[in-house]
Amino acid sequence: MNSTVHEQNRLLQNKLNNLIKKVRDNERKQALYETFGFEIIGANTPKELRDLLLSEFIARFQLMDVVLCLVDQHQDAERLFSEHDDEGRSSYAHRLLIVDPVKDTGVVDSLIKEPLLGAEVLKKYQWMVSSLKTKAQIRSAAYLPLLRSERIIGALLLLSHDSNRFPQGVGTFFLQKLSMMAAVAIENCLNQQRIREISYQDVLTQIYNRRYFDLRLKDEIARSLRWNDDLVCMFLDVDYFKRINDQYGHQAGDQVLVCVADLIKTHVRACDIVARYGGEEFVVALPATTLQFAHEIAERLRQTVFAMTHRFRDEQFRISISIGMANLRSLHALVQQDDQKYELIGAALLDNADKALYQAKAGGRNRIVIYGNDTAIS
Ligand code: GH3
Ligand code: MG
Ligand code: MG
Repeated sequence: MNSTVHEQNRLLQNKLNNLIKKVRDNERKQALYETFGFEIIGANTPKELRDLLLSEFIARFQLMDVVLCLVDQHQDAERLFSEHDDEGRSSYAHRLLIVDPVKDTGVVDSLIKEPLLGAEVLKKYQWMVSSLKTKAQIRSAAYLPLLRSERIIGALLLLSHDSNRFPQGVGTFFLQKLSMMAAVAIENCLNQQRIREISYQDVLTQIYNRRYFDLRLKDEIARSLRWNDDLVCMFLDVDYFKRINDQYGHQAGDQVLVCVADLIKTHVRACDIVARYGGEEFVVALPATTLQFAHEIAERLRQTVFAMTHRFRDEQFRISISIGMANLRSLHALVQQDDQKYELIGAALLDNADKALYQAKAGGRNRIVIYGNDTAIS
């Protein structure tokens, strides 16, 4: 009799221990999901969010891979997630799938609004894993819809080589909560980036403004120093611009500024940063460029601007620009002293380009001067 009670006690104790273990496991799981959820909500840029969802997620939850599919309503997701980051763009190429809501309607329609676990996921969403290097090892998957106000904005696919990881019918509460947070984070992050971009744009010419240029210049200087590349800065100023305003009116002046901005953009490479720095002044930063190459670009640009005829109402006129240039290598003394103070180096670089511009003006305008070179080239 005593031994039966004892045995019953032991069984009850075991049950209780198992229950306690389950509760503790759940608490740990909840804490893990919640911490990660708050981290993704706190991401400051689309790039940071992309790295969290496509890299950190895998490490934190011992997954084999993660695929993020996004319905690109504004046709800008690809750019916002990977701009100025070719490395990231190629390393996430098969895991960040951007789909067009108009062209890829079949794909978008296949994204269901409920989570899905088990074998069916890989059958239904084969296209999401078909380009992955790891596809042969995938044993189980979870499909999580990304929803904002009942609208599907994308989906996450969590992949594992453990066939028991995402079995059909198992509870999805934590996963659903996390995907809800991911959807909010994605929408917020993209919107914030769009707002940032508007505040970085010059309203008249649609090119970047000084604020953006100063920020990017710092990054480009850091990158150039790391890779031991040269970087060239150009200051461009329209000659006698005030006369254009006085003679043909402010509107004609505005047209000229838009035209000059367009010409600068067409003469430089996509990786160069073009900005309107002030009234009729423009700046260009050319990373990984020699002075000689930058000078060739500047010379072609100067000639094109000078050759162009502007029409305003019945009148025709021509304009010219002066260009001052300076390169990072010419600052080597400062660079060695202050190789962490990118802002200071950027200011010194612009200052030198500005001094060269001043010389170009003093030398008669419609010419290029390289800082440190005594002879003006026109
Ligand atoms: P310089 O050859 O020495 O550069 O002479 P400049 O006449 O070009 O230079 P100055 O600095 O004397 O005049 C610049 C003019 O640019 C004065 C200002 O009214 C005009 N300006 C500044 N911003 C704008 C703008 O957005 N639109 C127009 N139309 N004019 C502008
Ligand atoms: Mg001027
Ligand atoms: Mg000026």
